[in-house]
Amino acid sequence: MQEVLSALGISDVNAGGFSGSWSGSGRPQAVVSPINGDRLASVTNVTAQEFEAALAKCHQAFATWKLVPAPRRGEVVKELGDELRRNKEALAELVTLEMGKTLRESLGEVQEMIDICDLAVGLSRQLYGLTMPSERRMHRLQEQWHPLGVVGVITAFNFPVAVWSWNTAIALVCGDTVLWKPSSKTPLTAIACTRIAEKALRKFGHDPAICSLVIGRGSDIGDLINTDPRVALVSYTGSVPGGRHVGRLVQERFGKHILELGGNGAVIVSEKGDLEIALQSVYFGATGTSGQRCTSTRRVIVQESILGTFRERLLDLYRKTPIGDPRDGENLMGPLVDTAAVETMLAAIGTVKAQGGRILIGGEKLPQPGGCYITPCIAEVSGNLPIVQEETFAPVLYIMGYRTIEEAIELQNGVSQGLSSAIITNDQRESELFLSAAGSDCGIANVNTGTSGAEIGGAFGGEKETGGGRESGSDAWKAYMRRQTNAINFSGKVELAQGINLEM
Ligand code: NAD
Repeated sequence: MQEVLSALGISDVNAGGFSGSWSGSGRPQAVVSPINGDRLASVTNVTAQEFEAALAKCHQAFATWKLVPAPRRGEVVKELGDELRRNKEALAELVTLEMGKTLRESLGEVQEMIDICDLAVGLSRQLYGLTMPSERRMHRLQEQWHPLGVVGVITAFNFPVAVWSWNTAIALVCGDTVLWKPSSKTPLTAIACTRIAEKALRKFGHDPAICSLVIGRGSDIGDLINTDPRVALVSYTGSVPGGRHVGRLVQERFGKHILELGGNGAVIVSEKGDLEIALQSVYFGATGTSGQRCTSTRRVIVQESILGTFRERLLDLYRKTPIGDPRDGENLMGPLVDTAAVETMLAAIGTVKAQGGRILIGGEKLPQPGGCYITPCIAEVSGNLPIVQEETFAPVLYIMGYRTIEEAIELQNGVSQGLSSAIITNDQRESELFLSAAGSDCGIANVNTGTSGAEIGGAFGGEKETGGGRESGSDAWKAYMRRQTNAINFSGKVELAQGINLEM
């Protein structure tokens, strides 16, 4: 453990703020591993004054960074990706130590960071605007994209490094600077990433405050980000209530925001689908990352003709789930992030029972040290009970039956979140209906693959209470820039649009 920490520059006590130099004079807070309750290190939060200094430097850094040609900015992101390649194993181990996901998933998370850097490097030469024909003679109409400013990146604990990189790699090539407020549950990985970014920026002689860090409580440091007009864009990843609060504050000052909020993923399993694909997709989707993904499968909607078979086969997989130390490659499930998450899951199971649901398996606390291990749970329910509508951020899967594809789609859409969905079917009419305007209302709709495991090439995000934001690939970069429309007159005389005559 010590080897990993020192390889990434983590000391016994670490300052939680960075904007060219390190600061953080709050009281040291111990960071404890959910694997066994061991203390990993301590972190000091930034004070309001230190936040102000960090934002001022990050804002100042924007003035020069925005003028660096985009392909040159891409070189820094290429270096960031190479640094991540060099540190892949160590950073993945730290993610596992601090947050508890299995090492193979952590390695995947760091790979995702590398992938987004590669995508952003290419993007640095493709920040295209459009040209349009002007209605006026000898005029030209075009639109171009300019850097936006400081991007406040507020992240959740469950993807402690990938979400920062999705935002940062894109923001950097777009010419923005980044002020990161990570989850207080995962400050060490944030410090490690910031050190890596600092190295890449310094290598090319750029101001390291371009990637600044402010660790502190959401209710104080988070609100300073939400309300400060120097933060041009707030990219917030977290729960729905948190996003509602952030969205309101940012909107009040007419700032921009990207909201990436909770999900309630469902898989529809048709009798015309491949049962093995359905089982694997649902099993990994519901138990992977111990049910702590925004795209986790929380509901499986199974055609009644195969409900019994599917349920028994899935229960078999659940019975055999290897749970334990996430560093051990044999284990598929590690701990939940903390003991509070375990209590939340147990409370939700109590509510399921009270609302008439039937617990088929799981929900037992395991005796490992640290107290964060629990068996994954399946509950049989009839439709979207009130508790099913909530995102319990833990491995609780609700199973329900359906008769017609229309009924299945209605059940899938019948919750307030709209992030990820999937159908397992070999019937083209069913899959096309699911993907059509009459189908899934989610930002992600998959066919014959589960709800989780998105690729960085597509735009990532969801509808309804998931917040509507999009990050990562496709044209999501446009949210990180400001659009400008230009009319250029080379006619030598003044001509107004819409034929308005100003002759005097
Ligand atoms: P959370 O809402 O508790 O915290 C998220 C972040 O918000 C943290 O950094 C927290 O400190 C910060 N925060 C708290 N109060 C704030 C305030 N007033 N102003 C600004 N920031 C504030 O979420 P969590 O438990 O860390 O993560 C789990 C949630 O995140 C789940 O709902 C999950 O679905 C969601 N999530 C969504 C996506 C997505 O892309 N849609 C991805 C990952 C996680």
